[in-house]
Amino acid sequence: MTGTSGTFVGMPAFPKAAHDAVRDTTLRANLKHATHTIRDKRARAVAELDDWAALRDAGKQIKDHTLRHLEHYLVQLEESVTAAGGTVHWAADADEANRIVTRLVRETGESEVVKVKSMATQEIGLNEALEEAGISAYETDLAELIVQLGKDRPSHILVPAIHRNRGEIRDIFAKEMASWGRPAPEGLSDTPAELAEAARLHLREKFLRAKVGVSGANFMVAETGTLVVVESEGNGRMCLTLPETLISVVGIEKIVPTWRDLEVFLQTLPRSSTAERMNPYTSTWTGTTDGDGPQTFHLVLLDNGRTDTLADEVGRQALRCIRCSACLNVCPVYERAGGHAYGSVYPGPIGAILSPQLRGTASEIDASLPYASSLCGACYEVCPVAIDIPEVLVHLRERVVQGGDVTRRGAKVTLKPAKGHAAERAAMRAARWTFTHPGALAAGQRLAARTRRLHPRTLPGPGRAWTATRDLPQVPAESFRDWWQRTGGKDVSA
Ligand code: SF4
Repeated sequence: MTGTSGTFVGMPAFPKAAHDAVRDTTLRANLKHATHTIRDKRARAVAELDDWAALRDAGKQIKDHTLRHLEHYLVQLEESVTAAGGTVHWAADADEANRIVTRLVRETGESEVVKVKSMATQEIGLNEALEEAGISAYETDLAELIVQLGKDRPSHILVPAIHRNRGEIRDIFAKEMASWGRPAPEGLSDTPAELAEAARLHLREKFLRAKVGVSGANFMVAETGTLVVVESEGNGRMCLTLPETLISVVGIEKIVPTWRDLEVFLQTLPRSSTAERMNPYTSTWTGTTDGDGPQTFHLVLLDNGRTDTLADEVGRQALRCIRCSACLNVCPVYERAGGHAYGSVYPGPIGAILSPQLRGTASEIDASLPYASSLCGACYEVCPVAIDIPEVLVHLRERVVQGGDVTRRGAKVTLKPAKGHAAERAAMRAARWTFTHPGALAAGQRLAARTRRLHPRTLPGPGRAWTATRDLPQVPAESFRDWWQRTGGKDVSA
């Protein structure tokens, strides 16, 4: 559950939450399998394009230009949406946005809404606010449905239930679907096809009944007032077209000036997120059209800390983010700690730089987030809009050390320096000796390769604590050194 500031209520700071999460071997296995699969597919999809570097640079330039002239483009967007028959509302923070949406739903006389997956509505805790007002909000994205039925929290931007495996999902469906609507079929198995069919049947009822849809948007085109949602399941298309009233809550940074600009992101986003050449569903709508789709359209433009972020010359690059989640899938910290440890709907590297800027660094958890990184730079390498996440992390660390929150809330947070560990220092000394004696290193590698089947999955003695929270990497049958000697580096398939 999120509070209206977007913080997961009651969450401890990152080090404590991560400390607990890395001990969960099922979570680690689920995350490792999922992130490695997605990252490999993404790398192949990106490698297909000769002009990837140019597209990435174009995306960065478009976003930077738009953010520099944000006021101009927002006014243009408002005029375009209004001219097309929509109504624009401005929300300074989460509470105001929730009040606006609650009022708009009440005015329809309805007590339930269907939702398209939307980070902005999670950020403001809209579902909880609607529930307090007696309005039921039904998530229709498959992963969001799993999270909602499981009374859980999302742990990934794109795959919110990435921490769940198929068996867990089957159990959630079998136990919970009946109390939300159509029950799961008798004898439901954990095969993907059966799980998808159960979700489809459960959701279809809701789509056909709903009079109000709530969405976010991936992009808003200022020149025509068009909103864009990309998705893979078709649930978004249903929510955006079937209800009589559509309410879209969108962060002000999601704007692009023209359709020509949009073209760049429609190439980079699908390849970076789901490793697809294009999204299976790209829905666009401009105001309202008589006799076609929702007859009433409201756009709620959300600030909620974004203009504060824009004022920071280094940190503002976080507003370029198109929420592809590529940075999560390559992050060694995210892979081990999981998304819940970040205490926000924005986990991983982007969460570590976005949440402390949107919310300020006054709380212990927000002050700890800039440290949730090894600064390896993998996130920057894959980011399709070239956000230099390590640069922003270091900048935010400075901010925390120099006096706690300097943005919005003014409280100081004191960080304790980490203590050295004797065993770690001994291990580092041993590593230094080995790496400065190539003969010993080569002999050790060969011995390790020959005995690889006998290697234990956990270390004995003092090493046990280390392997309790980590999976030992498998030793390859042939070391790189031996492969190079054998092939001279010519045969990459050998
Ligand atoms: S920071 Fe970059 S890589 Fe991460 S989600 Fe945003 S756009 Fe994608």
